[in-house]
Amino acid sequence: MPRDVVLKELELLPAWRQRQQSAVDQAVLPVQSAPASSSKPDVDMPLGESRREAIMQMDWEALREGVGHCQSCALAQTRTQTVFGVGDEHADWLFVGEAPGAEEDRRGEPFVGEAGKLLDNMLAAIGLRRGDNVYIANVLKCRPPDNREPQREELLQCDPFLKRQVELIRPKLIVALGHVAAQSVLNSDVSIGALRGKLHDFHGVPVVVTYHPAYLLRNLLDKALAWEDLCFARAAMRQLQSVTATPL
Ligand code: URA
Repeated sequence: MPRDVVLKELELLPAWRQRQQSAVDQAVLPVQSAPASSSKPDVDMPLGESRREAIMQMDWEALREGVGHCQSCALAQTRTQTVFGVGDEHADWLFVGEAPGAEEDRRGEPFVGEAGKLLDNMLAAIGLRRGDNVYIANVLKCRPPDNREPQREELLQCDPFLKRQVELIRPKLIVALGHVAAQSVLNSDVSIGALRGKLHDFHGVPVVVTYHPAYLLRNLLDKALAWEDLCFARAAMRQLQSVTATPL
């Protein structure tokens, strides 16, 4: 590819343009259906296994309330508010980030700061828009102070919330943004570099891994890799949608 095209791609400019479709593995995993639920809120949040079980019974309203009242880790003391997630509750696409930053903590919505602007551009590059067949959530629903990395106990406590969101949304594809989201969703300690370019599985839902937008803001050269990942995700989605659309 000519150098000027590469530089443009690495933007340095809003180069999140749609080019050629990249190849995608033929093996697309089947999407499992999740049970519907209409249970009532359990905002008391019993501890341990029963807490997880209670969360897994929740409908959207109960889950929202449960997250909003959660006191299960120390982040409850420092947050301004919880950041539940936003978008189409029946979306095919679920983008999962790490945790709210300062702006998200202030506004109560994921990815509304600088990284969020880049995420919006990344979505636009593959013909997507926030809220339009897209849901955006984080692994952690509360901001870690000073934007430090989430701690193990915080991830453990928050994990059932994301799991339940996935069950309720039943997305066709999850895009994990960054190593914390990827490792947490895939329950793995493998690096992003090794996880990219493959379809993984989260309880029956295919998962694609790419770099976090905040990382890309600091590492412009890796935008080219993220673009490959987005093309890979788009190709996987096309396959998944065509499988769903094919009559038996
Ligand atoms: N980074 C994330 O991972 N999530 C947000 O919501 C914002 C920044």
